Amino acid sequence: MANLFSEVVIVGSALEKSLHYSVPPELAEVVQPGSVVSVGLGRRKAAGVVLSLGKSLPDLPETIKIRPILAYSGKTIPNDLLRLSNWISGYYFYPLGEVLSLVIPASEGVKRQANAKRKIEVETCDDVDVCTDSPIYHSPAPLKLTSDQNNAVDAIVPAIENPSFQPFVLYGVTGSGKTEIYLRIIEAAARAGKGALVLVPEIALSTQMEAIFRERFGRSLAVWHSAVSQKVKRRQGAEILSGLTNIVLGARSAVLSAIKNPGLIVVDEEHDPAYKQEDRLRYNARDVALMRAKILGIPIVLGSATPSLQTILRSRSGSYRHVALPSRILGRPLPDIEVVDMKRESGKGGIFSTRLRDEIGRVLQAGNQALIFLNRRGYAKYYLCNACGLVLQCISCSLTLTYHKNENSLRCHYCGFETPLPERCPTCGHTALFAHGFGTERVEKEVGRLFPGSRIVRVDRDTMSSHEKLLDALEAVRSGRANILLGTQMIAKGHDFPNITLVGVINADAGLQVSDFRAGENLVQLLFQVAGRAGRGDEPGRVILQTYNPYHYTIDSLLKMDYDGFCEMELSSRKGLQYPPFTRLLKLLVTAKDEKIVRTGAELLASLCREKAAILKESGKHIAVLGPSPSPYVKLKDRFRWQVFIKAWGSAEMQEFSGTVLDCVRNDSVFKNVQVTVDRDPASDI
Ligand code: ADP
Ligand code: ZN
Repeated sequence: MANLFSEVVIVGSALEKSLHYSVPPELAEVVQPGSVVSVGLGRRKAAGVVLSLGKSLPDLPETIKIRPILAYSGKTIPNDLLRLSNWISGYYFYPLGEVLSLVIPASEGVKRQANAKRKIEVETCDDVDVCTDSPIYHSPAPLKLTSDQNNAVDAIVPAIENPSFQPFVLYGVTGSGKTEIYLRIIEAAARAGKGALVLVPEIALSTQMEAIFRERFGRSLAVWHSAVSQKVKRRQGAEILSGLTNIVLGARSAVLSAIKNPGLIVVDEEHDPAYKQEDRLRYNARDVALMRAKILGIPIVLGSATPSLQTILRSRSGSYRHVALPSRILGRPLPDIEVVDMKRESGKGGIFSTRLRDEIGRVLQAGNQALIFLNRRGYAKYYLCNACGLVLQCISCSLTLTYHKNENSLRCHYCGFETPLPERCPTCGHTALFAHGFGTERVEKEVGRLFPGSRIVRVDRDTMSSHEKLLDALEAVRSGRANILLGTQMIAKGHDFPNITLVGVINADAGLQVSDFRAGENLVQLLFQVAGRAGRGDEPGRVILQTYNPYHYTIDSLLKMDYDGFCEMELSSRKGLQYPPFTRLLKLLVTAKDEKIVRTGAELLASLCREKAAILKESGKHIAVLGPSPSPYVKLKDRFRWQVFIKAWGSAEMQEFSGTVLDCVRNDSVFKNVQVTVDRDPASDI
């Protein structure tokens, strides 16, 4: 028998190149592309994935001795997932070995390789769980579909039965019954002998959906998130690989789960920025899901009450099919929206306007529930010295420290740095330190003072230190044990609590203070989401929005409940400014511990980019290079940060250009003192 050779990529390694190993005769019959194998690497053993097999080797230097594959793990990554991993690696400019370490469940015993150059802390995809502890909701199954729901199901099912790649936008207002549609189309996939993948942006939402899904799908369902035990993870991992479990519901990383024979992908709340991972592999799970559906040749449903502008644009151009649910279930009205101009309340010194306070009182009196939303945790936003003007900042990050009264400490919400509140100003020594602004902790105290008999539950990252606490809080609202739900964006999305009749937004402007062209879009989506929590049961709902900018166009579109109108305006302004979704962006983030080195590195990088852009221009391809400039947070975790933005008018140009630039960065020693991180389709300027 002729010798067989394999091309292997080392799992968890940042090596750009794959390595070659011979395949021993006893493994020749079993090893295939995708097989997880054990190989020798230097003096140690490493896990690798076989990329290809062949009878001959490429020309290699004579000094290289080809070693054999040591063992086969018995596991093979499905072909579609291997292709997807390759795409992810190419698109996001991230080493394939590191992408594969996200794809292979840790339960298979694959150890990640430490790497000197790049610290790897991968989020593994083995976070698979069957929640055995009940979580708490019961939906009567199955519901009789409304005619809008029927139409939606009828539009999607043919693409499952005769599989083809077809993205659908399920554009349904809050409370229009999107969940029931997901259930029906998954059932259609199951009838066709196929599995399904359902992504939700947050764990909190997966628990609500899990209860509903579990009722319909029982043991076929696996839930995939970070708050599950290792033991269950291992069992689930095996069950998914064997095909016993073929419906996976989970957050971002579930997009890489090894479902056998998937026939459908659903991305709920597709617009949600939580789908973007902001460190290491900076992928957007919605976009990866689209590519997975394309590779598999199956339909994908992007559900939202406020689709992203990218999705709106693509549905207008016809590349996505538009399916609408324009009204709430059972003719329930959308909530009434009121805006309170906080400038007129000034001098009263309160967190609550008179209007919102009165309405909360009324709602509690009537035995209903109120949701109070404020997107900042902690007690006070920052501490300022009235004598010298110093604002207390994190020692490692260019961020103000937030005061937490319970602990009487100041905390950095980025790196977690914590320090007791000083008695004197660290600069001038004066005792004139005062708290400014407020967060949920302070609002909770205020609610307690204003409504002494109320039963409040606060949901934010400080109070929800474990998954159990979160489940308990959600259960308290559902059962009526609590009558005020206060929290950050953890409570803004997706939840279906029928007795919430009032939503109060404490500071609707908070999202606008960032200098990011996406701020308006993100704020509108969040406000529509949080407003959508009101009046989902028999009683109609009301939303009271406190703002200092009552005439801002984002607030105005909410007031009119006119998301389409907002999109119209926003798209035309983006088009004028040549911003996404009309163009593509890529951020090159340059970091190092030394401020000067970072600045110099960023300047060199920008000139390299301009040089390459000039060359491309000769062949008629236009690339714009913006920067370098310091990042909005110029220092995080002791590293200084500068950035260069690349703008391209098409994905192919972006790919070609960035590939060329990054090759130079990798090979040119002038960049050896800085770290250059690629963020393709960045979700924020930070
Ligand atoms: P969305 O995700 O669109 O905001 P949900 O899927 O949470 O909305 O549905 C809102 C509410 O309507 C839920 O309580 C759900 O049980 C109920 N519902 C959905 N479809 C129907 C139906 N066909 N008949 C009666 N109630 C329904
Ligand atoms: Zn910090």
